[in-house]
Amino acid sequence: MNRHLILNIIGAIVCYSSLCYAQVKHTHTWTCMGTIAEINIPDSDEKSFTNYIAIAEKKMEELERLLSLFKPESDIYRLNSASGGDEINVSPVTLEILKLSVKYADISNGAFNPAVAPLVKLWGFSGGKLPVQLPSDSEIQTLLKLTNYKNITIATNTARLAAKGMSIDLGGIAKGYAVDICYRTLVKMGIKDLMVNIGGNIRCNGSPRRTNTLFDIGKKPAWSIGVRHPYDRNKIVGVLHLTDGYAVATSGNYEKYVTIGNERYCHIIDPQTGKPVRGMAGVTIIAPTAVEADAMSTALFVLGVERGTEVLKKLPDCHALFIPDHQPIKLLVTSGFMKYFTPLKEFTTLVEQLK
Ligand code: AMP
Ligand code: MG
Repeated sequence: MNRHLILNIIGAIVCYSSLCYAQVKHTHTWTCMGTIAEINIPDSDEKSFTNYIAIAEKKMEELERLLSLFKPESDIYRLNSASGGDEINVSPVTLEILKLSVKYADISNGAFNPAVAPLVKLWGFSGGKLPVQLPSDSEIQTLLKLTNYKNITIATNTARLAAKGMSIDLGGIAKGYAVDICYRTLVKMGIKDLMVNIGGNIRCNGSPRRTNTLFDIGKKPAWSIGVRHPYDRNKIVGVLHLTDGYAVATSGNYEKYVTIGNERYCHIIDPQTGKPVRGMAGVTIIAPTAVEADAMSTALFVLGVERGTEVLKKLPDCHALFIPDHQPIKLLVTSGFMKYFTPLKEFTTLVEQLK
């Protein structure tokens, strides 16, 4: 197993354990997209459940084949390899996720940036060499010139990266997108109660059990999802209650990082400075789709509290919890977030509502 896969899996376990929920009867866990995936369908017989799992796993394999950064036959690998050259034929799925990436890049004023890949690599993530010393300003400035996401051209069947050396990294959005694909496929098959989780990107419908549900959202039974304490992987700060197709994603500075000297640098890059983001421990987003939750958690991690809250005004159904990187922690929530969130008793006084 190579170092990056190990890094990814460790990241995923941390992220996965950041979210816990009531045990249900039909749970299946497997590895995909370098992380841990899980499906819960409480209300199904053994035979149907086996069938659902097979369908979900196949869908995820197809996606991985198209979107992988590392597989030479994947659309993204071919697109990156052809940067500055001809347009490349890609699948409708790849076109859709590229369009969504550009959409969230526009909404977040470039804080979410699928073209930030050269810098992600420079800092030792997504297949880059672990840096032994801090990258120089001139290295960063050179690569920043290759990160303009407006140079991604998307046509009917093709895509192209206009500048040589550009590359795409969908690590901040692909898991959420995959959750949506899996979720929609299962809902179309008539499943009412389900939860899909890929590396902590979660979408759910109905509730864990039709009766005897522990938590309610309004008067409805809902799934319960713990939000991890950023400084203690064994603790949660509160519980989210989600149903009706709502999704959650968290971006955290504890998920993946490199250590240079005595400092830790996280895996999310600020596309303005070309450097890993500082000052934020975790951002949790709830949204009507998993792709939106995933892209916006990465974006708001970059933007921080003030600029992040401003950008969220464009997405009225999307709500945020920010935990800045200082102790004792504060839980800064947008007004809509509290409808879904119950902080643990010891954290209630640390919650502050944002305007
Ligand atoms: P997430 O954990 O969803 O916040 O995604 C983080 C991953 O997205 C990183 O490991 C990179 O692969 C990629 N990434 C890093 N910085 C950005 C950024 N500013 N915009 C989009 N993707 C990013
Ligand atoms: Mg994300």
